[in-house]
Amino acid sequence: MEIKRNILLNPGPSTTTDTVKLAQVVPDICPREKEFGSMMEGIRRDLVEIVHGDPNEYTAVLFCGSGTINIDVCLNSLLPAEKKILVVNNGAYSTRAVEVCQYYGLPHIDLSFPVDRLPDLAAVRKALQDDPDIALVYATHHETGTGILNPIREIGALAHEYGAAFIADTTSSYAMRPINVHEENIDFCMASAQKGLMAMAGLSFVIGRADMIRQSASCPRRSYYCNLFMQYDFFEKTGEMHFTPPVQTIYAAVQALKEYWAEGEERKWARHTRVFEAIHKGLDRLGFKDVVKREWQSGLVVSVLYPDDVNWDFMGVHDYCYERGFTIYPGKISAANTFRLCALGAIDEGDIASFFRVFKMALEHYGISVPVKYGKYSVGGGMGA
Ligand SMILES: *Cc1c(COP(=O)(O)O)cnc(C)c1O
Repeated sequence: MEIKRNILLNPGPSTTTDTVKLAQVVPDICPREKEFGSMMEGIRRDLVEIVHGDPNEYTAVLFCGSGTINIDVCLNSLLPAEKKILVVNNGAYSTRAVEVCQYYGLPHIDLSFPVDRLPDLAAVRKALQDDPDIALVYATHHETGTGILNPIREIGALAHEYGAAFIADTTSSYAMRPINVHEENIDFCMASAQKGLMAMAGLSFVIGRADMIRQSASCPRRSYYCNLFMQYDFFEKTGEMHFTPPVQTIYAAVQALKEYWAEGEERKWARHTRVFEAIHKGLDRLGFKDVVKREWQSGLVVSVLYPDDVNWDFMGVHDYCYERGFTIYPGKISAANTFRLCALGAIDEGDIASFFRVFKMALEHYGISVPVKYGKYSVGGGMGA
């Protein structure tokens, strides 16, 4: 079967291999069959192993949904009555966690910082010191909206120092940047199959401390469908998801995990790094400026400032590239006009070289001057005061 290969430079879903795509084409099966259950057991084990979790301490719980379901599940399920959540917020995805707190009416502190900066750890400590009711600390590892990489190890250590559990949203770093849950002080992390695993959307998972999940049985049950303990407990008792799993998506995930182990953690990260460097090189050549300081970047997403050119037309450039098999993505920063190029997926530096040939043609097509121009107020490496 011939499947057109598109290069997705958006922050997930990512470009997949044909073998992962085709793994979904299987004989129909009822997911309550043992054969299917044992497949999910294998996935759960692998998901813990990817983040080097001790299988006696950590477990993986699968959900049918996009990555946001994990944020919802962790926040609504793990908060004891009368306790509070501290959200370390320096971007769009942590803001999403704050919104989840708001929707459930969960007591929370929105500790917000500028989106192009690292969170101030002294302020995190002070918040914990000032409020002994904080039982959960939440932070985003790789803030996909800007490409910034947050110091989760330090935030997790602070949480533990003050007796709180630590939840890290690792959706856009998991299975790309090497993560060790023990070293990073992570009690709970999360991801979905369509990002680092390079599989299909529709399967998400929380990886966390099994003892804490069991303890959370006594927390208020705030959701019927999205409760972590209920889903864990059902898995433990039956080996199955509580409700219908995304059957074909799970077959793709099994294949993607095989390919993950075959490539290996180190080689995979080296490949993403090559792609990231190639993106920077291409942008530098064209004169583009990025938003976040290089040393703070995750190595997976580059947020690029729109040039100051009357002919600049993001959607036009997007469409030009899209028609030629390359997808670029708008930014997620309210204070600046940006677009993003991401190093996720089954791609390599050769694909980035091909992309920049097309991208340059798009700029020429729209009469955008190359190298691109910036006014004196739009400087790279920080969005200014
Ligand atoms: C992609 C992503 C999510 C989940 O987004 P969905 O659109 O629900 O899959 C959550 N957190 C981060 C950091 C992400 O990059």
